[in-house]
Amino acid sequence: MPEKGPAGSIIDFVCVYANGPASALHGRTPRGMLGVRLLDVQPSSALFPHGLQVMEQGQAVVVGGLDVSDHGGQRPRHPPEVRLFLANGLLCCLWREPPHRLAVQQKLVEAERRYRLLARHASDVVVELDSDHCIVWVSESIETRLGWRPDVLLGQRAIDLVHRNDRSQVLRAGLRLAGPGSFREDLRILCADGGWRWMVGTAHPLPGEDAGGLVLSFRDIHDQVRIRAELDHSRQLDPISGLAVRSVALDRIRSALDGLEGTDSTLAVLSIGIDGLTQVNDALTHAGGDKLIALLAARIVRAIGRPEQVGRGTGDEFIVLLSDPDAAAAATLTAERILRACRAPVSIGGQPIDPTVSIGIATARAGALPDELLRDASLAMRQAKGRSRNGFALLDDALATEAHTLLLFAAEIQRGLVMGEFAAWFMPIVAFDTGQVSGYEALARWVRPDGLEVSPAEFLPCAECRGLIVRIDLLVLRQALAALSRLPPTVTMAVNVSAATLALPEYPQLVDEALRAAGVLPERLHLEVTETALLTLTNRIGEQIQQLASSGVRWYVDDFGTGYSSISHLRDLPIAGLKLDRSFTCAMRAKDTKSLRLAQALVGVAEGLELDTVAEGVETIEEARLLTSQGWLHGQGWLYGKAAPLQLETGPLPF
Ligand code: C2E
Ligand code: CA
Ligand code: CA
Repeated sequence: MPEKGPAGSIIDFVCVYANGPASALHGRTPRGMLGVRLLDVQPSSALFPHGLQVMEQGQAVVVGGLDVSDHGGQRPRHPPEVRLFLANGLLCCLWREPPHRLAVQQKLVEAERRYRLLARHASDVVVELDSDHCIVWVSESIETRLGWRPDVLLGQRAIDLVHRNDRSQVLRAGLRLAGPGSFREDLRILCADGGWRWMVGTAHPLPGEDAGGLVLSFRDIHDQVRIRAELDHSRQLDPISGLAVRSVALDRIRSALDGLEGTDSTLAVLSIGIDGLTQVNDALTHAGGDKLIALLAARIVRAIGRPEQVGRGTGDEFIVLLSDPDAAAAATLTAERILRACRAPVSIGGQPIDPTVSIGIATARAGALPDELLRDASLAMRQAKGRSRNGFALLDDALATEAHTLLLFAAEIQRGLVMGEFAAWFMPIVAFDTGQVSGYEALARWVRPDGLEVSPAEFLPCAECRGLIVRIDLLVLRQALAALSRLPPTVTMAVNVSAATLALPEYPQLVDEALRAAGVLPERLHLEVTETALLTLTNRIGEQIQQLASSGVRWYVDDFGTGYSSISHLRDLPIAGLKLDRSFTCAMRAKDTKSLRLAQALVGVAEGLELDTVAEGVETIEEARLLTSQGWLHGQGWLYGKAAPLQLETGPLPF
């Protein structure tokens, strides 16, 4: 702040603020600087006249060559210069070090020393090249990284140290270096022992006098590259079978198809499905299933002789590619060889297993799409499984059309499910002794938008093989229980359960939830499972049946007397009743005495085991009388009513 004399002229400047460095320059603290006069700290008065000039003219000035050391302040390395300027009527002094050529040079030397030190001790390898790209300097770290003594490399062409296959990258990058930017490439660099190490190299052009030269810096990425390669490799292999994963198999099919371009040759793709893998998984846990997959993979590879032609598809599927010129012709022979190779019995976890596979064959010429070819082979495999296991099917035109129709039909079912076109209809079950309706059987119906009623016989096979049956079963279960909740408490409800639904691990819980939601006692629910579905019985499914029976739900064997009857199921499972298949009633109608006697024997078995009995397909009063005389307790059939939506006096059901 200017200090004025009696005449009003400025006689000195008093300090009202000084920051740390400015105070230190004067050997004081910022507080100690307050009130200090300029002429006291600048005895040479060098600043004062400039201060006056600034106050008068308002222009900033720079004053150099000042010395403040006399006053005990830190001696600056170079005499400071001060910039004086006006701010709000106050004189401001800004001390700063002037640029000095000597100082700059000293700094450069220091920086270079530091840079060399860094380059020597850094783990990266730093190389300086001249304009001919020969090595003029290399950091000592090259010895630890690559085994080279630095002096050995001086004068050598840098490119000679790069792997032959990576040189084009370097040359391309060299072109880029001519323009702006720098290059960064993964390269294999020669080691002193003749080996190669992966390093990522970056290059920067040298400026000025050294123009044309380069500084290269290499970081060791050898371990990362190796781990990455191992990971890539393992991602391409299925860990269970050791075979190429589906995507890799597809790539191989794609390149084999590309190879057919311009030729008349065909190639064949085989889709091999393990029969009954789900049952093996259930019986022996997934570890057992995995062992079976690995074992069959090895057998298939042995049968083919070339592991690179075998891959793992999804789930229980293997893929084989036959691309020899006569591949398509040889496909059936190969399929037979695989069937034979897979068939030998094995023991897994102490359990004897007779493994079999089903094979689908699809052939194609150049121009075919790999995924479609694989899909066709899988469709043929499913067809082979459907016919009889341990066989093969060729996707010929008829099969392709059939498979295509099936696909379209499945899509149609799916649409119907989404649009709410499926519903449970109900067929009465009557007690022979009273003639009263004792319960109903819920039967799935698909009523198309045009009013057409589609029977389960039409849509169930397709729904079963496309995995839609579970949704249908659960829909019928919920609707049936909702209906039951509005029927008198003595009435029961029979619901059909397919093998796929029964195999759901959460099935008992779903039934329990449906019962709770409807507020219905479990004893009123009769679950019907066919003898054929019981063929797929595993310990786990047996436990589920047991669990539901313990909660009160009653199990009935449906279509009794038709499937592969296993009387032992009646002993081992908590079965509450039997339903005599409609074919027996039909046979009685035709006066077939054998069926009559068989029905008599079956009711005897049921009586002996104290099981409930229902005879299906009762169409006439005579049949009802005959069945009653045999001892059958309940009857169901057109005599009593066809399946229909349930009409209740309380109004329509809420679905
Ligand atoms: P099912 O369980 O044996 O059902 C009885 C079938 O026989 C019903 O056919 C019924 O309409 C028919 N039927 C009953 N009495 C007579 C009769 O006196 N004469 C004649 N000619 N037929 C009679 P629908 O409804 O076509 O069902 C066929 C099969 O579809 C059922 O046989 C059952 O196995 C299956 N099914 C029906 N609904 C479902 C369901 O929700 N889930 C599952 N998984 N299967 C179902
Ligand atoms: Ca049934
Ligand atoms: Ca039945």
